[in-house]
Amino acid sequence: MTTRESAGAPLVECVAIVGSGPAAWTAAIYASRANLTPLCLTGTPRQNPAPVLPGGQLMLTTEVENYPGFPEGVRGPEMMELFQKQAERFGTRVRGADVVRCDFSHHPYRLLVREDGLDDADGADVVRAHSVIIATGATANWLGLPNELRLATSGGGVSACAVCDGALPVYRNQELAVVGGGDTALEEASYLTKFASKVHLLVRRDELRASKAMQARVIHNPKMQIHWHTVVKDVLGADRIEALLLQNVRSSATSTLPVRGLFVAIGHSPATGFLADSGVELDSKGYVMLRTRSGATNIEGVFAAGDVADSSYRQAVSAAGMGCIAALDAERWLAARGVH
Ligand code: NAP
Repeated sequence: MTTRESAGAPLVECVAIVGSGPAAWTAAIYASRANLTPLCLTGTPRQNPAPVLPGGQLMLTTEVENYPGFPEGVRGPEMMELFQKQAERFGTRVRGADVVRCDFSHHPYRLLVREDGLDDADGADVVRAHSVIIATGATANWLGLPNELRLATSGGGVSACAVCDGALPVYRNQELAVVGGGDTALEEASYLTKFASKVHLLVRRDELRASKAMQARVIHNPKMQIHWHTVVKDVLGADRIEALLLQNVRSSATSTLPVRGLFVAIGHSPATGFLADSGVELDSKGYVMLRTRSGATNIEGVFAAGDVADSSYRQAVSAAGMGCIAALDAERWLAARGVH
């Protein structure tokens, strides 16, 4: 494998932060205020199969209304810009590069990084770091429909997060649809019944994957209608969603369902591919495993924060809190080893 040291970089970073969402920037704010001058490796824009931008899932969100401190709401991309500015103000250095491989087998650690969007470790730069905070997030899984992402990225009524978007005025007293049969889908459907006139749950099989307790909460809600054996073929509407094209997988019959919102809740994928063979312990779904309430992973000096280590809460504010914890843990870990 051929690699080269990055020109002009410190010989060994105190803290390298991988990611650029709320967890990464909050970790950067805390680490830079602790005079650790962290290097934030923000990633590069990707399109595989859905857009993934530096800044994470909030870059695909229109209005954020549940982050404390923004009483009038704030646009997701604007919020990430503010987070970054705050981190840079205290000395965070930013590099638009992807980490393609990590070597945590000896200290200081080595991160192989690329700025050209390729995943190959051959020809990558080396960033060496005493400690690393992994905050690469997770991406919502999408259905892959012809008009799905167009209407999701333009605020046209397609979303992958009901808790983030469901309370927006455009969804109030409207018929909405949720795709999926897991705990997330049912939780989101239940949440939406607070605002919607009716919620259609679209399930591809004849049973739900969600826990029985969650099912009990949802199935008997008078605002809920479950469509079994049903898949979505496309989202219909020019600037805003007007209806869904559905197909019954048993009969193959197609139909249209007029709705003003579609919430896709078919799971998330954590961005942990670059950790393959790194020794960082992942759970069965690929999320980083954390020890108790701290940000520590199973590897000394390697911490994680945000959605990459949290398949349950997945909120900007909970990710930011985890970023703070990881940075404080890293600072203490470095101090105990005399690294400043
Ligand atoms: P999940 O459990 O993997 O469920 C995904 C659902 O989406 C399944 O019903 C699946 O259908 C469906 N699906 C997948 N691809 C689809 C497609 N292309 N078209 C239509 N449907 C599709 O994911 P999750 O619900 O996000 O939950 C993730 C984890 O978090 C789970 O362990 C869950 O228990 C946990 N969680 C817990 C809570 C809670 O306890 N409050 C809340 C949220 C999440 P099939 O069933 O047919 O595969």
